[in-house]
Amino acid sequence: MRFPFRRRPAEPTPVPRGDHPHDDAPRPDDEVLLETVGLTKAYAGAAGELPVLSGIDLTVRAGEIVAVLGRSGSGKSTLLRCLAGLIPPSSGTVRYRGTPLTGANPGTALVFQTFALLPWLTVRQNVELGLEARGVPPRKRARAAAQAIDLIGLTGFGSAYPKELSGGMRQRVGFARALVVEPDVLMMDEPFSALDVLTAENLRGELMELWDSGQFPTRAVVLVTHNIEEAVLMADRVVVLGARPYGTIRETVEVDLERPRDRDSAAFDERVD
Ligand code: ADP
Ligand code: MG
Repeated sequence: MRFPFRRRPAEPTPVPRGDHPHDDAPRPDDEVLLETVGLTKAYAGAAGELPVLSGIDLTVRAGEIVAVLGRSGSGKSTLLRCLAGLIPPSSGTVRYRGTPLTGANPGTALVFQTFALLPWLTVRQNVELGLEARGVPPRKRARAAAQAIDLIGLTGFGSAYPKELSGGMRQRVGFARALVVEPDVLMMDEPFSALDVLTAENLRGELMELWDSGQFPTRAVVLVTHNIEEAVLMADRVVVLGARPYGTIRETVEVDLERPRDRDSAAFDERVD
């Protein structure tokens, strides 16, 4: 299948930042898709306002996978919901391609930890849901759903019901349902943590292959996880939600990663030896 977006140009030019003759001009890969400035979120609780996020500045650019890492309760899902425009920030702004959000973010789609499939609908109907909501006509919907189902390895399961599928297959439906709308930014909230170790590893590997092959219909990924290994293996950059003092999120720490699969593998093997 052919999705319209490619993650990177076919021949990326590895010019270090600062040495490039046009460094002031944005490069295609540099386009800022999501941006939060001074994002603060507090929930109203019995004991008053509970601060969850305070002063988060985060940028997600085209071409990158950003992992948001933090312990349970550190505000990862809250941050994701703010980025998706599902909840409003208490203060600060969230922008999608430069425009502040006023409601649901049109450039994002979500994959949930517990799949969130509708049990009375078939795989195909579940996948078509997002398109239906966006007013895509039935024949186009069916075609796009079939493509997404093939892409994610569910060929032949379109007429199955969620209860007939394993956990891994159900989460594949979750991915197909998100990818079918060809979101600019795919957002995942602990998408592998309800799966057994091997299933999770397989699905992760397949997704990364798709991403690296340029077949992903999306330009950036935000992965929320509490799994350090997963963050390091999948992401280009890891944003850590700190939790000191406990329960008060004051800042993020960003770690740039050079992913092993992007390196010359022989050179990498040498270094490992
Ligand atoms: P994480 O995804 O990292 O586990 P969450 O964003 O789900 O963290 O939650 C962060 C904190 O905010 C937790 O203490 C949680 O109890 C609280 N919280 C989350 N959602 C709500 C809500 N809708 N109302 C009140 N408190 C909430
Ligand atoms: Mg969460």
